[in-house]
Amino acid sequence: MSKVVIIGAGGVGNVVTQKCASHPEVFEEILLASRTLTKCEKIAKQVKENYNKDIHIQQIDAENVPALVSLLKDFKPTIVINVALPYQDLCIMDACLEAGVHYLDTANYEPKDNPKFEYKYQWAYQEKYAQAGLMAILGCGFDPGVTNAFCAYAQKHLFDEITQIDILDCNAGDHGHPFATNFNPEINIREITQTVRHWQNGKWVETPPVIEENCIHFTFNYPEVGPRESYLLYHEEMESLVKHIKGLKKIRFWMTFSDTYLTHLRVLKNVGLTRIDEVEFEGCKIVPLKFLKALLPDPASLGTNYKGKTVIGCIFQGFKDGQKIKKYIYNICDHAKAYQEVKAQAVSYTTGVPAMAGAMMVLKEIWKGKGVFNIEELDPDPFLKTIAENGLPWEVQDFSGSLPE
Ligand code: NDP
Repeated sequence: MSKVVIIGAGGVGNVVTQKCASHPEVFEEILLASRTLTKCEKIAKQVKENYNKDIHIQQIDAENVPALVSLLKDFKPTIVINVALPYQDLCIMDACLEAGVHYLDTANYEPKDNPKFEYKYQWAYQEKYAQAGLMAILGCGFDPGVTNAFCAYAQKHLFDEITQIDILDCNAGDHGHPFATNFNPEINIREITQTVRHWQNGKWVETPPVIEENCIHFTFNYPEVGPRESYLLYHEEMESLVKHIKGLKKIRFWMTFSDTYLTHLRVLKNVGLTRIDEVEFEGCKIVPLKFLKALLPDPASLGTNYKGKTVIGCIFQGFKDGQKIKKYIYNICDHAKAYQEVKAQAVSYTTGVPAMAGAMMVLKEIWKGKGVFNIEELDPDPFLKTIAENGLPWEVQDFSGSLPE
């Protein structure tokens, strides 16, 4: 009897819940818990319509560890899928330890007052999880997540040594809003406005944020969607890949942005609306970025008229049998198709499917271990097969194009 608790009823939580419900042979009972119960009710209704399955729902503040421990002890799940916000990661990891439950998330912990994406806080749980005989699986969305699995796959099957990885994340979709973010606006804007870093010859190299004029970008010709401007960005999976991919000399992450998006972001930053410190407003203290989040479209609502596709993948350079080779592994996901299936846009879809698949790997005891794991440390084959069977097919190609030096 496998029970799962899903925490977070946002865009990603919706996809994870529906995808788990589509596999009753693995996820026999589902409890969806989140801060706002009405959002859980809406997803539960959708699950009933699509899969004729009843799920449990419960209101929870995941930062209240005793309340979460008691929820877990009552329901007795085998695993928690955390798709709330990165701020809650450590509280949920603590609660899982106390209740003896495996843990999986899609984004690394981030302190509220310091938008630095670092694994150090969660890697510090290694001993505690190992001693408890539990698994904590970190970053099991698309990027991080599937991109890490692509790296593990390339290392296992395609290369003797990988020297360079370029991760390319393209959203060539159009949601019809002048400005909106595809996942939680607060987390998204914190990620995009920070100083950029990539890793080269054993050290991190800093370059200007994507909203600065002298930021680094180039045009990449993406499969099916064509040329798009792609900007160098820091992304959390690079920190673990640098540790786990043998022989790696360089790793970079690129993301596409439209001019309109960057212009909006520049203006919002210039007027102070992306600030994360408290400011005094008419006798109250407000955090401008949280206020901005309240004004922007809910990412879960974007799917309705979203057209176009996402293309996310990795380009690898390295050696096989003494020959220099280049390979490109990627997935293409269609916003409208995702909406048709689970009423979600492709960014939520490409995150939710791998989170479900990762939990399935644990429940089927395909991924086994004690301690804290990043995805590239686990067998990529069954995981990549499962995401392909569940709406995220992927391709491997020889790469003959060019990338900036
Ligand atoms: P949303 O903002 O749509 O959803 C987050 C949900 O978490 C909301 O329902 C929110 O509740 C709930 N929540 C927030 N705080 C708490 C709390 N203290 N206790 C309980 N529930 C809480 O975000 P997304 O669904 O877009 O993203 C979810 C996660 O997925 C994020 O961590 C994001 O960084 C990650 N992500 C990962 C990607 C990847 O590829 N690896 C890509 C995209 C996203 P309420 O409704 O009350 O606000």
